[in-house]
Amino acid sequence: MFTQAFGPFSSLVDLTVLLDTADANKKHGFDVWNTAPNPSDAISKWKTWLDLPDTAKAAIERECDVGDIAAELDDTLEKHNLYSHLSLERKKILSDFDKEHAKYQPKKRKRVPDEVYDDPDIDAFKEKLENISLECWSLPPQADLFVRRALPFEHNALSKTKECKATSSKSLQAKDVLLYITVYDKSASHPYQVWKSSSHILPSTSTLEDIWNAIPCPAKEYPEEVLADDGSLVEFDTSRTTDRGPCFCVHGATYGDGGDAQYAQKVLDYLATCKVPPNRPRVTLKPGGLISDTTLDSLPLILHFPNWILHNGNCEHYFAVTHIRLRHPSDPVDGYPLTTHLTPVSRGLCRICDFVPASHAIVNDLRLDDSPFVVCKRCLDFLGEPTSYNDSRLVVPLVEHKTW
Ligand SMILES: [Zn+2]
Ligand SMILES: [Zn+2]
Repeated sequence: MFTQAFGPFSSLVDLTVLLDTADANKKHGFDVWNTAPNPSDAISKWKTWLDLPDTAKAAIERECDVGDIAAELDDTLEKHNLYSHLSLERKKILSDFDKEHAKYQPKKRKRVPDEVYDDPDIDAFKEKLENISLECWSLPPQADLFVRRALPFEHNALSKTKECKATSSKSLQAKDVLLYITVYDKSASHPYQVWKSSSHILPSTSTLEDIWNAIPCPAKEYPEEVLADDGSLVEFDTSRTTDRGPCFCVHGATYGDGGDAQYAQKVLDYLATCKVPPNRPRVTLKPGGLISDTTLDSLPLILHFPNWILHNGNCEHYFAVTHIRLRHPSDPVDGYPLTTHLTPVSRGLCRICDFVPASHAIVNDLRLDDSPFVVCKRCLDFLGEPTSYNDSRLVVPLVEHKTW
């Protein structure tokens, strides 16, 4: 499962070696960010290219030459009326195609607006486009095999990179390398699959705690339970949230937050005592320290390798380092961790009115089909207070999804 979801793993990446190599290159006058002003200058020095006969070179140059359309492309991109027409037309073609061929049809489909214009430039441009003889310009029905609807986690709730505004935000240091981290959650509908929930960029001097603070999770917002003297649950206190854990498991070691829950130690205790089938090896981990003290550059990192996180009961996440690079002069200096992707979260609708997103879950109410039964605030008020035969009923407020 994991190899399919996370992709081939790299070998161990040592950030110190990466920085030393970059320093050594700099000393020899090689700047990785300084690309050649003319790429063809670089190509002209390649041995493979020099060894080619002149006729082969001329044929390749002819085939790759885009000089005839370069001026026209530049012109279209610069004229906003032409470009907006082109982009709207393309959206419309894709939308119509999707409507005809998609196997799953959502109830509400976003409609691409009709274009209203009175512009001779666009008329001329349109005519030119209609006369394009390139076969791949239009989408034939056979293209259905290669087109699919975007999956929920492929949508991004952010329109631009989000900086961290908290006081714990980090600034880039001179010796920092940037790590791209993707966080995955278990899919609600397919528990053996993981879905991307967010992506972040962190400096290598960040700690595991910085990753933890950047991860959005509704389980961090669960209201505190109020218990009676006999230990039974009375109600939930929404003014206080409970967040037990987390335990990070990275490269054979567990890292905890030093809190009362001690999830890191509990995981170690469990692994030491759990029953293992005779043909399976026992998983062993070693204690690794506190997440607040463990910086990312002190950890052995493997690209695309899932690292496990457990917190607050049985809420699990995985994070994988997907990319490591040197800092670029145009990188922002403050506001790390940066969040580049947040998968939108849709809340279920009220089971009574089927219209408003549910805000409460009702447990053990004899009048309702299921337990728990999710309802909106208005429908909850209509249901009224529990009656004498229904005194074990409990109303639990659902977690509000925040844009962290
Ligand atoms: Zn969680
Ligand atoms: Zn309702």
